[in-house]
Amino acid sequence: MSVYRRFRNRLRIGPVEVGTYYDGRGREMHTAACTAPRCGFSADYHDRSAAELAARAHRCSA
Ligand SMILES: [Zn+2]
Repeated sequence: MSVYRRFRNRLRIGPVEVGTYYDGRGREMHTAACTAPRCGFSADYHDRSAAELAARAHRCSA
């Protein structure tokens, strides 16, 4: 599954990238996805602030 959908408002927090996109129903969704190799962390949120918080709280296990 590709991390790179059509994100808007990309923000980089450490190794984690936060992006906003519209899901299939036109609702705004927010994804926090780690770009570090071998990490694979990725999560979707309804709130931008929740996505940014998750990005800040993320710690790579690598
Ligand atoms: Zn990570």
